[in-house]
Amino acid sequence: MVVQVANSIYETQTIEIAKQLLDATRQKRSFFAQMRDNMRWDDKLLAWAMSNPGLRVQLFRFIDALPALQSKTEIARHLQDYLGDESVELPTALKNLLNFANPDSMPGQLAASTVSTAVETLANKYIAGATIKQVIKTIERLRKDKMAFTLDLLGEAVITEADAQSYLERYLDLMEQLTQEGKNWSTMPPIDQADGEELPRVQVSVKLTAFYSQFDPLDPEGSKKQVCDRIRILLRRAKELGAAVHFDMEQYVYKDMTLGILKELLMENEFRDRTDLGITLQAYLRDAKGDLNDIITWAKQRGNPLTVRLVKGAYWDQETIKSLQNHWQQPVYNQKSATDANFEEMTQLLLENHQYLYAAIGSHNVRSQAKAIAIAEQLNIPRRHFEMQVLYGMGDQLAKALVQRGHRVRVYAPYGELLPGMAYLIRRLLENTANSSFLRQSLEERPVDELIAPPVVDEEPVETRHGASGNQAVGAGFTDNVTAKTDNLTKPAPSPIPHPPFANAPDTDYAQAEAREKAQTALQTVRQQLGKTYYPLINGDYQPTTETVDSVNPANPSEIIGKVGLLSIDQAETALNAAKAAFPGWRRTPVKQRADILRQAAELMEGRREELSAWICLEVGKALREADGEVSEAIDFCRYYADEMERLEGGYIYDVAGETNRYVYQPRGIAVVISPWNFPLAIATGMTVAALVTGNCTLLKPAETSSVIAAKLAEILVAAGIPPGVFQYVPGKGSLVGAYMVKHPDTHLIAFTGSQEVGCRIYADAAIVQPSQNHLKRVIAEMGGKNAIIVDESADLDQAVAGVVKSAFGYSGQKCSACSRVIVLDPIYDTVVERLIEATRSLNIGAAELPSTQVGPVIDATARNRIQDYIEKGRQEAEIAVECEVPETGYFVSPTIFTNVSPDAKIAQAEIFGPVVAVIRVKDFPDALAVANGTNYALTGGLYSRTPSHIDQASTEFEVGNLYINRTITGAIVSRQPFGGFKLSGVGSKAGGPDYLLQFLEPRTITENIQRQGFAPIEGVD
Ligand SMILES: Cc1cc2nc3c(=O)[nH]c(=O)nc-3n(C[C@H](O)[C@H](O)[C@H](O)COP(=O)(O)OP(=O)(O)OC[C@H]3O[C@@H](n4cnc5c(N)ncnc54)[C@H](O)[C@@H]3O)c2cc1C
Repeated sequence: MVVQVANSIYETQTIEIAKQLLDATRQKRSFFAQMRDNMRWDDKLLAWAMSNPGLRVQLFRFIDALPALQSKTEIARHLQDYLGDESVELPTALKNLLNFANPDSMPGQLAASTVSTAVETLANKYIAGATIKQVIKTIERLRKDKMAFTLDLLGEAVITEADAQSYLERYLDLMEQLTQEGKNWSTMPPIDQADGEELPRVQVSVKLTAFYSQFDPLDPEGSKKQVCDRIRILLRRAKELGAAVHFDMEQYVYKDMTLGILKELLMENEFRDRTDLGITLQAYLRDAKGDLNDIITWAKQRGNPLTVRLVKGAYWDQETIKSLQNHWQQPVYNQKSATDANFEEMTQLLLENHQYLYAAIGSHNVRSQAKAIAIAEQLNIPRRHFEMQVLYGMGDQLAKALVQRGHRVRVYAPYGELLPGMAYLIRRLLENTANSSFLRQSLEERPVDELIAPPVVDEEPVETRHGASGNQAVGAGFTDNVTAKTDNLTKPAPSPIPHPPFANAPDTDYAQAEAREKAQTALQTVRQQLGKTYYPLINGDYQPTTETVDSVNPANPSEIIGKVGLLSIDQAETALNAAKAAFPGWRRTPVKQRADILRQAAELMEGRREELSAWICLEVGKALREADGEVSEAIDFCRYYADEMERLEGGYIYDVAGETNRYVYQPRGIAVVISPWNFPLAIATGMTVAALVTGNCTLLKPAETSSVIAAKLAEILVAAGIPPGVFQYVPGKGSLVGAYMVKHPDTHLIAFTGSQEVGCRIYADAAIVQPSQNHLKRVIAEMGGKNAIIVDESADLDQAVAGVVKSAFGYSGQKCSACSRVIVLDPIYDTVVERLIEATRSLNIGAAELPSTQVGPVIDATARNRIQDYIEKGRQEAEIAVECEVPETGYFVSPTIFTNVSPDAKIAQAEIFGPVVAVIRVKDFPDALAVANGTNYALTGGLYSRTPSHIDQASTEFEVGNLYINRTITGAIVSRQPFGGFKLSGVGSKAGGPDYLLQFLEPRTITENIQRQGFAPIEGVD
């Protein structure tokens, strides 16, 4: 659909005003021309970034790392590392600058100084000051130019409650200082007064998420409470001081919650009459127009106007990448013109409702601003109700031209150090150098008519959260066609063996109220089903048992989730016989039919997603979001292994003239799956369906503490059409029936995930050939880890600390992949430890079903006591830095951090399988790698670094099955991150990977001589 958003009544005037504005901004020599003429290094860097996409990526990556680099030598080394990349073609001047042999040399130091000065100059263009003194100077200059301001405090990511409190306090202090200073400012009527009203001279812009470190859409009520407590303090103080407060809008995931909280808060009696407050809407969102309509309705009820700042949106790349990674509907438009068109429509809607809402139009696009002016002029909008806004350093000429035209103009001025301001700077650089950006196109001196032409949109409409298409002209919906087109900083992924993309099941987006409601309803429904008895499923029938065991909620052990019938040895024998009898039929069942049963199981799981998550949450104490991720993983295993088996079915053909050679696979026979409680659905499903789809008859023996969830899996497989005897659910005591089945002569294969101790025993038992056994057993064992994350000096510490906390304490450290050692380089050790301690103290500990919970219980009393024993040992070996209060009821263990731990200490070597982390100080990167590799395990590992040579070195030398760089080390996704380790972490190929099914199969070669009397068909010859 192509829509031209032109022929409105405002179009002629829009074009006229746009021309005037462009003329005014271009009268002075254009910025681009200045850039060419001046050729200062900062200008050169920007110009190169615009003309060379490869250089842009590497340059911005370098700039991102720069503030963390401590010496000129380090800067010089990183310059070569980033810009010396073969994929980047360098302009001659840069090539010459980087042509030094040694980063320590004079030329190396010169390059470091030149580039870091240039980046500092760049930052100074967009950041209004690093100190309050500097920023006040900037503000006074702006006021002299008849421009108002709004001040934004740049800060580190808020990942601790101390950060959130400090954010509030810094704003209180800032407002105080500015209002004090403001007393010396002489009145500037164009910005200090409007329609006879005195306007606040001081305005600050704040971000809602920064008021609470655990701000989470899954927990709207808890987040609201924490945030509102702090915002009330801010608003009260602002009122006393006569300062205005504006709320920025951040990533989409926070949007509904931000609007919800503000709508409620600003309706409170205390704040309801305030007209000096404002909120922000982003026109690049497909939802945005619906949101504006809601806010208009709300503002009418409120009875007092506040400001809506309309912007296009600053996180386009991030939103696009996130939706692609999660397979979620893309919340932002795909086409720049769609955003522009929506912006114009929203401008009109906003201005038409100016009696309820004041409009602040935030854009550097001359056409967008011109359209707003045209509408405002025709509607005769009062001055108080309409202002234009630009970002500091982005629209200086435009702002001046707008002031000259007599409009009220405000400049958004960020203030703070470069390091915490880096995310902001990178957003501005991206925006300025993006092909589609108005600023860039204007700098390139595109023809005026083209620059100010009305946006033409040809996207298809898509359903938004508001039900209808947010804009008649837009919406390509859930698109994958933007994959390669983003303006992001991602390195093009080298792909040695391209693999067809597998479509993973999307996790639930809890930012959607409907998803949260469904989750809560499912918890209630499941609660009504607690306490039932689950018997073994033998040869198609549920068979009563003499013994049962209670499976309980680890957060509340008096709550019985279900009673589980324990299989006897006799019943195990019956089940094995049934499997043996079913095997000939199942191995002959066409692969397509077997694969389709898995696909049907995946559908059933998707249909029962919320219910399954609720069972996981209650039976093993896994927090809701992680439980939901586990359901996705189980679904993925079904679909992925179904596809994989169909791929393997054809085998390989190695024919030569006169001879056919076929390489084909056959199932092994009877598979015993022994699954763990920590991924009670995903791992049980993965191992079971892998065994089934390859044609093996399979017995699933789940861990006792998660047997109810496994019973749900059994229900699903039966409903999906698995025949009796082919799959059997055989809960029982591991040491008894588990061992019996492992040793049984009819067992061909054991797939196990669990502790090293049990895994090694199974390996040994399976190696013994029993009487009447005429085959060797295959063991696939995924065992533990002592997983380390290395943090080097160049790391983004906000990202590193948040990543370590999530990797270490998610599911109380009970994932095989969890981080239990943090190896930190000496220069940043103290900073990392300090932030880590605060971030850990800020976590909410509680029952897994509570939406506020980040750390739930451990699985049972035995686990709790074992972990506590380790903590006691740890006290003797190292310094304990964090211990938190935990609920009294339930099997809770506090997240615990030990610092200054020796690499050889018990707590640095033993697999604890709980929320306990050892922090180890090392002198340099080689030392870090040596310590990381100094255990018996090799499962997962992580590195936070922006040093390319360290990343390369870790890629080859960090001994782990799964290495994660600059991200959390848990949460492997089927097909994207096949999972599994080596050394004592396991034996066998990676789950969710292309080799996994081969372990469940035996290959055969069939060779036939097809010559008869010297005759055989010869390919290509008649
Ligand atoms: C005073 C002020 C306050 C601001 N506050 C916020 C805030 O709170 N939250 C926030 O998110 N942003 C905020 N911004 C930043 C703002 O979103 C960007 O500066 C703005 O989007 C740039 O748009 P433009 O009209 O100046 O430029 P243009 O060049 O016309 O538009 C660029 C914008 O188009 C959009 N876009 C780019 N490519 C595509 C594509 N392929 N498909 C669809 N859309 C695309 C993006 O939003 C991009 O930023 C603020 C800006 C100002 C001026």
